[in-house]
Amino acid sequence: MTSDIGSGALHLLQTVFGYPAFRGQQADIVGHVASGGDALVLMPTGGGKSLCYQIPALLRDGVGVVISPLIALMQDQVDALAEVGVRAAFLNSTQSFDETLRVERQVRTGELDLVYVAPERLMTPRCLELFEASNIALFAIDEAHCVSQWGHDFRPEYIRLSILHERFPQVPRIALTATADRMTRAEIAHRLQLEDARQFVSSFDRPNIRYSIVEKTNGRKQLLDFITTEHSGDSGIVYCLSRKKVEETAEFLNESGIKALPYHAGMEHAKRAANQARFLREENIVMVATIAFGMGIDKPDVRFVCHLDLPKSIEGYYQETGRAGRDGMPASAWMAYGLQDVVLQRRMIDESEADENFKRVLSTKLDAMLGLCETLSCRRMRLLEYFGEGSSPCGNCDTCLVPPVSFDGTVPMQKLLSTIYRVGQRFAAGHVIDVLRGAESERIMQWHHDKLSVYGVGSDRSEQEWRAILRQAIALGFVTVDHEAFSSLKLTELARAVLKGEQKVQLRQYQKPVKPKRVSSPR
Ligand code: ADP
Ligand code: ZN
Repeated sequence: MTSDIGSGALHLLQTVFGYPAFRGQQADIVGHVASGGDALVLMPTGGGKSLCYQIPALLRDGVGVVISPLIALMQDQVDALAEVGVRAAFLNSTQSFDETLRVERQVRTGELDLVYVAPERLMTPRCLELFEASNIALFAIDEAHCVSQWGHDFRPEYIRLSILHERFPQVPRIALTATADRMTRAEIAHRLQLEDARQFVSSFDRPNIRYSIVEKTNGRKQLLDFITTEHSGDSGIVYCLSRKKVEETAEFLNESGIKALPYHAGMEHAKRAANQARFLREENIVMVATIAFGMGIDKPDVRFVCHLDLPKSIEGYYQETGRAGRDGMPASAWMAYGLQDVVLQRRMIDESEADENFKRVLSTKLDAMLGLCETLSCRRMRLLEYFGEGSSPCGNCDTCLVPPVSFDGTVPMQKLLSTIYRVGQRFAAGHVIDVLRGAESERIMQWHHDKLSVYGVGSDRSEQEWRAILRQAIALGFVTVDHEAFSSLKLTELARAVLKGEQKVQLRQYQKPVKPKRVSSPR
């Protein structure tokens, strides 16, 4: 960057925003965009993406247009900017016609530094004409991963944003996101016609977050233990898959003396907004929510993020856990996961309306998530590897702190797989494990499964242990669950090599939950 731009940028950072220095790649990004370059910015949540377009917008002539799907946050963003003297406004469906007219006039006459617009508004002929008739400093496309059809936040309006390049070829564009694996990154560049843009990829490591994933036995009780032993008095977020579970879990926590609020899309809007506001304002408060909660939420002192259900992908997991510890102080990402989660997520993919190709993508993403759950090595390494970053064992995750014991599980795996085969691949987990353990259930007698050669060959292991092995069998792809047929277990092609003894299997030893040391939480 030219030194003029550089010193101008630093001056604005200090005098307008009140920060002494740029962080990470901010200075490079600001310089590049301020001098008219296009950029694709990948920075983790809390990394400081906003300044990357706000400062160039102030340095360049004209108004900076920020495209964001987060309508609910625009007012806050504009207010925060007004507080430091930046002239900002927004255009979205929540405002009156008079307000719209006023903002449009301000854009046209150059009275604004920044204007936030929702993508569907931007695409209207009226809005495009307004911008063509105005002096535009830059376009910032926030939450750019929304353009990805494979992503978890797909917004169809984002696809049409490529029009910006066609209609405003001279205006620099900066696309920003906190979450994108390599495939998504390439898709963003392609769909937004940003192939020639410079990419700024920050490290995705959040060293202050301690990751742990535990075996689910009684999720709610484990959650309560976790909060009371490691985070009593702290604020946190608990993610659940269903609205019902959100309500129940919030109630359970309240009954157990922990101040908790529910949040999900099925709640009345006013109630939801009120809960969100309380969470942002109060201390010592837990938000129990579906993934509808959190995008763009900036509460710096969230000390823990818990998952009571398995996320669909590592991107989702990373984004949700990333809401912990934005202030840089120690924080926890804790998850309880069990066989039921795997079964449920697989079923959701199988039963979705998506085409085969899309189902395959979803399935690959789920596999990566399962790989993270079942890993014998450092969780952080697995996470960062997924985002294409190399690293070494971190010393701040459960597998580093209490290394899991692994064992040669070839024989038990063979026992499990052959039992599934012997019962005709027509029975669900409970029955298969009963056969393995030599149980005397009515069903076993009815089907004469006590006559099978595999009956009782696994009586040396507990039901819990067999469930853990089965879970890994599913995660490793040896077994699938057929939801069309009463959740019966079926073998895949991959099972053959194990059964024939051509492939060894290393398994994670089932461990009774152990309590790691308390994460020291700063006060
Ligand atoms: P993101 O959009 O990447 O999640 P934000 O732009 O909201 O992150 O920034 C996260 C927090 O970090 C904000 O509170 C912001 O004011 C602060 N911040 C950003 N850049 C700097 C900096 N250079 N120095 C100090 N604080 C910063
Ligand atoms: Zn680690």
